[in-house]
Amino acid sequence: MSKILVLGELRDGQPTRPTLECLSLAAKIGGEVGVVLLGQGAAAAAAEAGKHGATTVWAAEDAVFANWDLAANAGTCEAAIRSTAAELVLVPASTHGKELAATLAARFSAALASEVLDVTANGSGFSATRPMYAGKVRATVNLSGSPVFATVRPNVVEIKNDGTATPKVETLTAAASDSRVQSLGTESKAAAGQVDLSEARVVVAGGRGLKGPENFGLVDKLAEALGGAVGASRMVVDAGWKGHAFQVGQTGKVISPELYVAVGISGAIQHLVGMQNSGCIVAINNNPDAPIFKVADYGVVADLFEFLPKFTAELKN
Ligand code: FAD
Repeated sequence: MSKILVLGELRDGQPTRPTLECLSLAAKIGGEVGVVLLGQGAAAAAAEAGKHGATTVWAAEDAVFANWDLAANAGTCEAAIRSTAAELVLVPASTHGKELAATLAARFSAALASEVLDVTANGSGFSATRPMYAGKVRATVNLSGSPVFATVRPNVVEIKNDGTATPKVETLTAAASDSRVQSLGTESKAAAGQVDLSEARVVVAGGRGLKGPENFGLVDKLAEALGGAVGASRMVVDAGWKGHAFQVGQTGKVISPELYVAVGISGAIQHLVGMQNSGCIVAINNNPDAPIFKVADYGVVADLFEFLPKFTAELKN
């Protein structure tokens, strides 16, 4: 039976969505699933982790975990991996998760597959599927040795909550930090009242077709009418119309909302990588040959400046 350890993340005392995705993937692979949760509320989050397949929660609530500290996190997780003899370690491919997984894989001289979409047990070890060349191809890589590491791309794995066991909670001793970097706090880029792009069920994203930042209000209003978050293409971000936190795509956020509305976005491969797993894709573009229409469930060939105000007004009615 495989021993799988998820290095989870907490936000406001609850496991983040990418953590639940890692747990769901671990449960799908099958085996003994444990999760490391570091920070305030770790032990209380055990029940939630159990619903998603964890049978053991390794928890530490020390003050050192209040803000991101790579040294303390890596040292504590290293001890957990050694004491559980984990064969596969799954980590959310978040900014901190990627840093943590790379540090630990180097310490163990172990294989690391980054941004994986899936992992399976192959009898002698694990195989991971990961995108290459900006998502144009998917490669299957075999990970040999023990432990092996994989960072899991957010918003790809379906979250399952059919776990029934109440997990056993084990207390971890926090490793001392010798970090020369001191993290002072975390600031949310989402303004008060705005829905966070990564976890929004509806996203309305705008591209260069909007012609200028002064027209982005059309996208904001549609997002507001749908109760969704606002996203943007890289052209918009590079032009300074929106901050990088809004960018969807290969070098931005990878998201999979239930509804994605692309307004004046051409659909370059680097953009598609970030949103093609959305449940329903609606594209509004005045060029019928725009590549975005190839992935769209519904396409509106129209001038966005004429279409959007009427569409938003109609939705509000
Ligand atoms: P454009 O390609 O200029 O498209 C504008 C669209 O608006 C056109 O299809 C046009 O027909 C339409 N339009 C114009 N006027 C109207 C109108 N009045 N009504 C309706 N439609 C209209 N891009 C990303 O988005 N995210 C990434 O993470 C990303 N990462 C990248 C990484 C690398 C290494 C590279 C090389 C590129 C990356 N890009 C990324 C850039 C990407 O290749 C495209 O250049 C970018 O996505 C194009 O943005 P856009 O669709 O807004 O602009």
